[in-house]
Amino acid sequence: MTLVAIVGRPNVGKSTLFNRISRKTSALVDDFPGVTRDRNYAQITWEGKSFAFVDTGGYVSTDSSFIEKQAREQVLLALEEADIILFVADAKTGLHPEDTLLVDILRRTSKPIFYAVNKIDGPEQTRHLAEFYELGIDRLYPISSAHGFGIGELMTDLAELIPAPPEEVEETETNEIRISIVGRPNVGKSTLVNQILGTQRVIVSPIPGTTRDAVDTAFERHGQRFVLIDTAGIRRKGKTREKLEKISIIKALQSIERSHIAIILIDATEGVTDQDLHIAGYIQDRARGCVIGINKWDAIDKDPKRTKRFMEEVRDRFRFFPFAPILTFSAMTGKRVSKILPTVSEVFAQYNQRITTGIVNRALEQSLQRHEPPMVGGRRLKFYYATQASVRPPTFVLFCNYPDLVHFSYERFLTNQFREAFNLDKTPIRLLFRGRQ
Ligand code: GDP
Ligand code: GDP
Repeated sequence: MTLVAIVGRPNVGKSTLFNRISRKTSALVDDFPGVTRDRNYAQITWEGKSFAFVDTGGYVSTDSSFIEKQAREQVLLALEEADIILFVADAKTGLHPEDTLLVDILRRTSKPIFYAVNKIDGPEQTRHLAEFYELGIDRLYPISSAHGFGIGELMTDLAELIPAPPEEVEETETNEIRISIVGRPNVGKSTLVNQILGTQRVIVSPIPGTTRDAVDTAFERHGQRFVLIDTAGIRRKGKTREKLEKISIIKALQSIERSHIAIILIDATEGVTDQDLHIAGYIQDRARGCVIGINKWDAIDKDPKRTKRFMEEVRDRFRFFPFAPILTFSAMTGKRVSKILPTVSEVFAQYNQRITTGIVNRALEQSLQRHEPPMVGGRRLKFYYATQASVRPPTFVLFCNYPDLVHFSYERFLTNQFREAFNLDKTPIRLLFRGRQ
């Protein structure tokens, strides 16, 4: 997913623009599940292109020199992390020395930059545009975030730079296992990457990722090809990186998107945090395979009672992921890190599992016998037939008379029955209900 960062001085209208874009595309805005609390980023679809917008604003200080220093830091961060930059200036205040400064910083990058001049609310304000040409920019976008003027054109030009969504060729590709390693700063992602790559007697080759700066690493183990997603991003350490959690979350989401299996790292010394669950929510939403890795196991007191309580707490907080294996290890010492790849392979095998239609229908029949579908509004739900529609994850289509009447609890019952019948205890699975064909 392409990441677009909105940058500019305070009060030029960045958040107004962000809200306008989100609202304008309201039907299409898809907030990242689990992270909706943060209103500063949104996934947007425009003319068939999908991208994420980040408003880098959010200043708390009123001390102007401090604010401006922050604005500069935000720009540097955006340069480091975003794929496209959207710079916003304010026609009402006119060209400000700080604008010139920010633009000078922006010029150092080869990333695409869009320059918008905001608060051009009507034709009479377009004369304010002239002074901004002093910045030496060929294409300025006059916009009014408050009134919506000029936004469509800006978005359309932006969307043009965004690569078309990849066709779903992945299923027929080689059987490589793509792994993302995600988690909060300092949980040990980079240590783990080094440990895995260092201990494998493998042919390691860097391969460019889909977004700029992303470098994946491929290696082979026992004839199985693995790809660690965005190893460059994981290893790159910048102070700025950790300052803006929203960008670090989006980076995690981008790598999850490109992976089959996500390893979510938890710091054993800190336990499960809300941000861990945010990221996990996204893994769930994208129906990726998942391994919960509890790192820094060397650093905690391993009193059996305490570890038992700890593991129960992890299970409880990840209760929406009952199928995700939990591993404990130490990326630093390497202890039990060797369990990770075999576990990932196991999850992946299930993630790709195909079940013949005969077996699917037998499982459906048995489930119906065990627990008859309930009456809903005087109507009896009837299932006719089921079949597996796809893998990654295993997805089953169940044909029935009233697909809309399948209650959540009955769906959960069927899901559990299928899991058990097909030995799919380590992968997400999906059930889709369809009317009779
Ligand atoms: P940010 O600090 O860059 O995020 O700026 P805000 O979005 O908070 O906007 C700062 C002020 O400018 C607010 O009072 C907005 O109402 C106002 N503003 C934003 N966009 C426009 C616009 O297009 N026209 C006018 N006239 N005012 C705007
Ligand atoms: P990242 O920000 O998630 O990539 O985390 P790093 O790999 O940079 O690790 C952050 C800090 O945690 C470093 O000081 C590591 O040495 C330390 N660390 C990583 N893994 C372990 C571990 O298994 N045990 C202990 N005790 N420390 C660890």
